[in-house]
Amino acid sequence: MRRDPVCNMEVDETTAVTVEHGGEAFYFCSEGCRDKFLAEHRDRKPRTSYELIIIGGGPAGLTAAVYAAKLRVDTFVLLQDLGGQAIDSTKIENYMGFDFITGPELVHKFKNQLIHSNYVDHKIAEVEKIEKTPEGFRVTTSDLASYLTKALVVATGMTRRKLRVPGEEEFQRQGVFYGNIQDLSFVQGKDVVVIGGGNSAIQIVDNLCTVAAKTYLVARKFEADPAVMKNSDGFAAAEKFEGWKIERLDGDRSGLREVQIRKAATSETATLPAAGLFIAIGLHPNSALVSTLTQLNERGEVIINPDCSTDIPGLFAAGDVTNAYGKRIVIASGDGARAALAAKQYILALRREK
Ligand SMILES: Cc1cc2nc3c(=O)[nH]c(=O)nc-3n(C[C@H](O)[C@H](O)[C@H](O)COP(=O)(O)OP(=O)(O)OC[C@H]3O[C@@H](n4cnc5c(N)ncnc54)[C@H](O)[C@@H]3O)c2cc1C
Repeated sequence: MRRDPVCNMEVDETTAVTVEHGGEAFYFCSEGCRDKFLAEHRDRKPRTSYELIIIGGGPAGLTAAVYAAKLRVDTFVLLQDLGGQAIDSTKIENYMGFDFITGPELVHKFKNQLIHSNYVDHKIAEVEKIEKTPEGFRVTTSDLASYLTKALVVATGMTRRKLRVPGEEEFQRQGVFYGNIQDLSFVQGKDVVVIGGGNSAIQIVDNLCTVAAKTYLVARKFEADPAVMKNSDGFAAAEKFEGWKIERLDGDRSGLREVQIRKAATSETATLPAAGLFIAIGLHPNSALVSTLTQLNERGEVIINPDCSTDIPGLFAAGDVTNAYGKRIVIASGDGARAALAAKQYILALRREK
């Protein structure tokens, strides 16, 4: 594997677009990144200013990026990873155009649209700071690069909540995992615990039911869609503890061994043997970047108008990070398209003012 020197994306050297420059071989994710590399070397000047910057590589950010490119807006996407939460979904049955598709397959299609069908300037990087400037916004990444933009779409989605119980930090990646993971071989033939009562927890239980010896499902309340629970083999097979919570995790140097649980509002406890604990207890919005710039609601979501604009001119938000109803791929994608359309109108109005 190589890294594209422009966008920082991992690329396979057998399929990458390559160029020899100054006696050295460079590998790119796309012809677009190769052309940007050659232009920046010719002009000796990296690009740092755009009409629109989009932050986020999930369905909202990627759709906003492709829409903006189609609308001929000068756009740059900063993304910590490609796919966001969508890549963790093993079974997507509610995205139009597909009866069934896995998260990684859908994200692969999104990626192709971003870098091949419509090249959008992009970089894998974590945004650490957003500042308001007289002309728009300054966006700074963790590698201390700084970019200026007239308009900004924040599509930073959500991150999984932690349990905050003793042992959680100690056994991270030594048995403790957040959400779904691809390689379940470490729990083959062993007992596991899943905590959470929503659709994500049921999906995890389903994946585990053919791998683990026994699955315990612990939740305050089982509140997944009734159809999801009814059709789930894992849910039927799991030993269920509804109304229970996790108190403590125990193990040794080789990893997690036991999970202590307690029935809510009682002193009744139980110890479940577990080589793996999968935590799926919800998510919180990644809105800290704009918390001092714009209004958040009591859940920490960015408050948006019907066109994805916020109370700050030029600042738009889309997808799970917002207070829009429904946390789904199709909704986040729709919001991303709406934000791109509204940002284009905002940029056109600025152009007319000049
Ligand atoms: C296990 C699981 C299964 C799911 N299954 C389904 C399903 O079957 N169907 C369905 O419709 N929905 C499903 N969902 C929900 C769906 O995935 C989300 O609603 C959707 O991904 C939200 O898209 P988003 O773009 O708003 O945010 P996200 O997908 O959360 O993407 C946010 C992006 O922003 C990036 N980011 C965050 N902070 C920064 C920063 N500071 N700098 C740069 N980048 C940053 C992240 O790295 C990520 O790329 C599932 C979710 C999970 C967790």
